[in-house]
Amino acid sequence: MDVLRQHEISEADHRILNPFTDDQLITLGEICRLRPDVRQVDLASGKGEMLCRWAQRFGIRGLGIDLSEVFVSAARTRAVELGVADRVRFERGDAGAVTPGTAPVESDPYDVVSCIGATWIGGGLAGTIELMRPLLAEGGLLLVGEPYWREDPPPQAYQAEGVGPEDFTSLVGTLDRFEAAGTQLVEMVLADEAGWDRYTAGQWWTVSRWLDDNPDSPEAPAMREYLTDLRRSYLAYGRQYLGWGVFVLRAA
Ligand code: SAH
Repeated sequence: MDVLRQHEISEADHRILNPFTDDQLITLGEICRLRPDVRQVDLASGKGEMLCRWAQRFGIRGLGIDLSEVFVSAARTRAVELGVADRVRFERGDAGAVTPGTAPVESDPYDVVSCIGATWIGGGLAGTIELMRPLLAEGGLLLVGEPYWREDPPPQAYQAEGVGPEDFTSLVGTLDRFEAAGTQLVEMVLADEAGWDRYTAGQWWTVSRWLDDNPDSPEAPAMREYLTDLRRSYLAYGRQYLGWGVFVLRAA
């Protein structure tokens, strides 16, 4: 079953598709010293909660690009709901193929370029930073949401979490990766276990209800397996070993 479709089902009741709380999202905006008319492009923008909340709170202007029609449509609805549809725009597209001046990306560089929880779009952290940099104005900020290992996981954790041993590293190893990519880490906001619980445990009931409502769907067996694996791997490994944060970077 398509991973995107899996997430559209399991995150149907989420606004933020990562372990952040609303408070952490606003804290991050304050840290970034956002001002009215700051222009931001968000790659893999999900349901657009970050751009919409920041437009509402700080008056930014934003473009969000996401592959999922379901999420793009939810983001547009949210923009209307928060009264910021004149400041933010959401387009469906492959964020891994963005270049300045090719629609929907404008040729004018952006003050903030973000990719929160989707660094596979550039084939990993380094590739995604490379993808983001040409879009960034001089002196602007890159925001990257990325997992890290809070402590060395047991070998079986990789398979359970569906990641390779090299995909993520420790917090200081993540710093090394940022530096190797020619960026300077200037701030960060890290998720905590309560946020992880909302993000992950928040999917269990959603999927369980979906299975009640769609028992004969051809997607039901895959969703049942997804729920079983998600619940077990989170309790066995994810909650203890996996951290997540948004890292604020400037060009070094
Ligand atoms: N940044 C959002 C969403 C994170 S979830 C948030 O933090 O709430 C990951 C997102 O990546 C999903 O919305 C998914 O649809 C999107 N996605 C996956 N591959 C993509 C691609 N190649 N281009 C654009 N979006 C992509």
